[in-house]
Amino acid sequence: MPVREILLLGDPQLWHPSSPVVNIRSRETSETIGDLAATLDDFRERNSFGRGIAAPQIGAERRIIFINVGDSFPLINPRIVRASRETMEMWDDCFSIPNLMIRVRRHVEVDVSYTDEYGSQKTMKATGALSELLQHEIDHLDGILATDRAVDGRSFAMRNVVK
Ligand SMILES: [Zn+2]
Repeated sequence: MPVREILLLGDPQLWHPSSPVVNIRSRETSETIGDLAATLDDFRERNSFGRGIAAPQIGAERRIIFINVGDSFPLINPRIVRASRETMEMWDDCFSIPNLMIRVRRHVEVDVSYTDEYGSQKTMKATGALSELLQHEIDHLDGILATDRAVDGRSFAMRNVVK
């Protein structure tokens, strides 16, 4: 479960859509999950923030995200199955775009279906910060970055300016 290098904005791989995971129990799947966990932990230790990472950010083009929201766990093949009509606008950030905050619009609530690491099918209802996090990470699996979602041309600010 090595800590992996996080790809940065400009690396074309970040804009590639990822493939679904077919075999939950394959060595490749468990290695990717282990690497995501280690890389997220390492980022949190060094930066004192960070709630989620997506497999394409470490160069693995598979539909896996890993979140730490108190509990930490992977979501395999996550899919938004319901999104509220109500939206919210907020500053978003991304491990792949260090120190840049990006103003985006997200659904207030989403329901996300996914497979857990044991192969069980689950649905998570998310609102507010968790909803925003899941939309951000699932976007990575479709090759969409926060910069692609910027509300307008002035939706960018350095972290220490907006904080
Ligand atoms: Zn990101």
